[in-house]
Amino acid sequence: RRDERTPVVLTDIVLSFGGVRAIDGVSLTIETGKVHGLIGPNGSGKTTTLNVISGYYAPEKGSVTLGQPLEPGAPETRAGRGIARTFQTPRIVGEASVIDNVMIGATIQGQATFMETLFSLPRHRADERRLRGAAMTALAAVGLEALADVRADRLQHSELRFVEIARALVLRPAFLMLDEPAAGLSVSEIERLAALIKGISRQGTGVLLVEHHADLIFDICDHVTVLNLGRVLAAGTPSEIRVHKEVVSAYLGG
Ligand code: ADP
Repeated sequence: RRDERTPVVLTDIVLSFGGVRAIDGVSLTIETGKVHGLIGPNGSGKTTTLNVISGYYAPEKGSVTLGQPLEPGAPETRAGRGIARTFQTPRIVGEASVIDNVMIGATIQGQATFMETLFSLPRHRADERRLRGAAMTALAAVGLEALADVRADRLQHSELRFVEIARALVLRPAFLMLDEPAAGLSVSEIERLAALIKGISRQGTGVLLVEHHADLIFDICDHVTVLNLGRVLAAGTPSEIRVHKEVVSAYLGG
C-alpha cells in the first residue's frame, strides 16, 4: 500500500496530435493536501495534461507515477487508485435525480464501466444504502443536500458544477482534478467554490485546478504551473508567479 502522502508526479510528458506537440516536456507534481494550479492561454496544453493524468491519453514520452508508474488507457483504474476528475462541461443525466447522478458517478469514477453501471444497480440493499449515504455526504460537502431528490435538469448550470464535484468526491479520492470549475459561475459562487476547494485540500486531498480565472488561482493555490505552447513557462508559489516577467507579459497581460 502506498504512503498516504505519495504525490502524482509527471516527468517530461510529450504528446502530439497529428504531428503537433500539444504538450512538449511537461513535468509537475501534485501533492496531497495541496492545491496545484495549472494556468496558461487557450491551447497551451492544460486539458491535455489533465487527460494524460486521468489515463485518457497515453503520452509518447515521459511518465506519470503515483508511487509506481500509472499505466495509460484505463481511466477507471486511475479512479481505483484514487484519482477523480470533473469535466469542462458537466456530464449529468438530466432525467435522473441529483443524488442518483452522484451515485452513478461513484461507479463511473470507480471500477465499473458505464454500461455496467446502467445495468447493475446495487445488488444488495446494504450496498445501495452505503452508496446513498456516501452520495449524501458528498452533496452536503458541496452544500446541495437539499436538492438531492430534484431532477438534475431542474438545476442551474452553477449548481450542476457543484453536483459534478460531489460526484467526484463520493469515492473520497486522494486526488481531485478540476477542469475549469469556475467557468460560468458568479462572483459569489466562485467564492463558495474557493472555500470548497480549500476545504477539500485541507482534508488531505491533492487538487489539480485547471482554471482561466487568475484571481481564483492566486487566491487558493499552494503552487502554480504556467503552461505556454505546451511547455512549462514558469512554476512557483502564487506570489512568485504574479510577478514573473514572462508570465505577466505572455499571460496576465500586464
Ligand atoms: P488548453 O486546455 O490549454 O486550452 P489543450 O490541452 O486543449 O489546451 O490543447 C493543446 C493543443 O493540443 C492545442 O493546440 C489543441 O488544438 C491541441 N489538441 C488538444 N486536443 C486535441 C485533439 N483531440 N486532437 C487534435 N488536437 C488537439
